[in-house]
Amino acid sequence: LIEARDLKLAFGETPALRGASLSAGAGEVLAITGPSGSGKSTLLHCLAGILTPDSGEVRFDGRRVDLLNEERRSVLRRDTFGFVFQFGQLVPELTAEENVALPLLLGGTRRTAALAEARPWFARLGLDGLERRRSGELSGGQAQRVALARGLVTRPRVLFADEPTGALDSLAGEQVMELMVDAAREQGTTVILVTHEPRVAAYADGQTIVRDGRTSTLVPARTAP
Ligand code: ATP
Ligand code: MG
Repeated sequence: LIEARDLKLAFGETPALRGASLSAGAGEVLAITGPSGSGKSTLLHCLAGILTPDSGEVRFDGRRVDLLNEERRSVLRRDTFGFVFQFGQLVPELTAEENVALPLLLGGTRRTAALAEARPWFARLGLDGLERRRSGELSGGQAQRVALARGLVTRPRVLFADEPTGALDSLAGEQVMELMVDAAREQGTTVILVTHEPRVAAYADGQTIVRDGRTSTLVPARTAP
């Protein structure tokens, strides 16, 4: 479904990727691991069409993501991809349910319909009763589950998650992982997950390790792209 081939990217003089490749099939969960500064986030951003590699190819559904113009890439990100980051990055002034509904609102869904789609996620992720809470007033684990709901609410084909459990203690982290993997499997969403933690990586079907901007496959993925 999604594939990177021999990506190279330098930030000025700093080479961040020096030949990174990976692939993930539909519905698969792929973990990207490796030391700090090795290029994991850069690789994720290239896959998601946030960064353009200097060379190499990124394909989604056979289409070259790296060759799309910025407008088409932003449509792809909005309509087809979902995102979860380390510190949730919720809008603190909005309520939890408004945060979950946000990607739908940005995609043109009306407010009532967007909130109606957001609500079932609260029961599903153990967040009952927190719908109207300002997201600045949630605990770390709650905020991260809200961020997860926001990442999945559009039923994306691919969910990109950069250290989604990094700010949580290990119990809350495992909870978020379990919820993420279950929800993704249920709706057939492919997950590309960056993580430092071997316990988190163990939830994935496949594992790719990045060292000095180069990838190697640790655990092969289950299916072909
Ligand atoms: P971490 O585990 O700490 O998040 P990472 O594996 O995600 O690290 P990247 O963020 O991909 O690493 O960074 C790879 C290299 O590129 C590092 O040397 C980093 O300093 C550099 N880098 C990343 N983003 C930028 C940027 N916007 N401008 C300049 N250099 C950058
Ligand atoms: Mg990173």
